[in-house]
Amino acid sequence: TPCACPAGEVPLTAKDFRSDLKPIWCPGCGDYGVVTALYRALASIGRPPHEIAFISGIGCSSRIPGYTTAYGFNTVHGRALPVAQGIKMAKPDLLVLVAGGDGDGFSIGGGHVAHAIRRNLDLTYIVMDNHIYGLTKGQLSPTTPRGAVTPSSSHGSMEDPVNPLLYVLAYGAGFVAQGVPADMDGLTKVIEEAIRYPGFSFVNVQSPCVTFGDPEDQAKVQKTKMRKLAAEGHDPSNRLRAMELAQEYGTSLYTGVFYRNPNPPPSYDSLIRERQKTLQA
Ligand code: SF4
Ligand code: MG
Repeated sequence: TPCACPAGEVPLTAKDFRSDLKPIWCPGCGDYGVVTALYRALASIGRPPHEIAFISGIGCSSRIPGYTTAYGFNTVHGRALPVAQGIKMAKPDLLVLVAGGDGDGFSIGGGHVAHAIRRNLDLTYIVMDNHIYGLTKGQLSPTTPRGAVTPSSSHGSMEDPVNPLLYVLAYGAGFVAQGVPADMDGLTKVIEEAIRYPGFSFVNVQSPCVTFGDPEDQAKVQKTKMRKLAAEGHDPSNRLRAMELAQEYGTSLYTGVFYRNPNPPPSYDSLIRERQKTLQA
């Protein structure tokens, strides 16, 4: 797709980030809402598509870079974060986005999450968490709730899910938020805030799989279940409170910012830039 960045001072719009590749997600899949929220967030950020690198793993949601006009790399299963970190190290001025599903991020790629967080490169990781392996037709994923009946657990899952929010908070992520496609404004806002955060930022999107997901996990139900953290009076600089709220993953559907480090430490890429300057001096 040719670069859609307009010449001169023309402000970017959501349309500038939409590629002409038509998504092949199932009609009604939550990921449509995620890509739309992302177009809007990127328009607000205002960086042209050729200054953005969008990296994904494998899964339904990992198709997302192709639906944008940013440079994209649909890598291998579970390896989006290492590839994205390499890209950011080589070209620290790029805006680097990473996306994938719950299986990609918290099963095969789970080991990379901790290290991406502690290394703290300035990138944004968006997980489209639908609690299922959608692309391979509905097996249990690391975030499937205990008791869930799926094609690979016909008598109900016998294991507890990973808690993505608590996982990233525990490893020290500086920005942690959650959104749902049923609340487009809220989702756009958290994605934009995540991109603006100067360090590793994480957005968990409870993005319904309409084909293999639980009927209780769909947009209509989410709309009635969601509770905005801001409206609950949550102070996003309170990390321990964020962890307490994050423990309700799977029971309460909180949306908004769980945690934003009020004093972000220097990102790894900014330290590299500084060291390069010192060594060259
Ligand atoms: Fe979306 Fe599920 Fe269809 Fe995959 S299988 S495109 S996650 S609705
Ligand atoms: Mg999934």
